[in-house]
Amino acid sequence: MMIGRRLLLIVAIFAVVPISAFAKVPGREPLTLTYLGNAGWQIEDGHTVIIVDPYVSQFHDKRMGNPNTSDDIDEVPVPDEAQIAAHIARADFVVITHSHSDHMLDAPSVAKGTGAVIIGSEGSANIEREMTGLNPDIALIGSGASRKEIYRYSSRLMKALDDRAIVLPTHWDSYANATVEKSRDEVQAFSAEIRVASPHTRVIVPEYFKPMTFN
Ligand SMILES: [Zn+2]
Repeated sequence: MMIGRRLLLIVAIFAVVPISAFAKVPGREPLTLTYLGNAGWQIEDGHTVIIVDPYVSQFHDKRMGNPNTSDDIDEVPVPDEAQIAAHIARADFVVITHSHSDHMLDAPSVAKGTGAVIIGSEGSANIEREMTGLNPDIALIGSGASRKEIYRYSSRLMKALDDRAIVLPTHWDSYANATVEKSRDEVQAFSAEIRVASPHTRVIVPEYFKPMTFN
């Protein structure tokens, strides 16, 4: 698939999914990334649409501004078909980085609605093997509060990525944060860590459902 000509590294706290390597060839097509909330991304190049960890059902949540949701955190998670239909119109592949509900809950509905093929990952065992020596153009880095449980997470990660990446923070509106406002504070703190660790790196905090195109 065309999208495979570029190196895109997805780094979550739990999993790494290197899709393929960029070839620096003239005339390559722009790559558009759209943040779907939580760790969810839509990645497309005009030919192929890849959805990573879709979880737009979270916008059903009271914390995300929906007043009609129950406070019962023990309720069985159910995909919100209306949110999924509203935000994910097309997909060729759905990539699930790991099997937590906030990464895979919406995948069956997306696959059913679009005909996409679902791709699972080898999971966290790949992290050590894959991280060293990579030189991605764009790194999606898990930036929720749980990163603080990992020793010098941001600076070690930027060193492993050779300091050159454009960083798109992901999974910053994690369920660990009580409100969207708190999530935004968290992602700003993460961005500051990256700027200290790697001053030449561009950190772009994504807006929900707003495509960003990279040439
Ligand atoms: Zn998660």
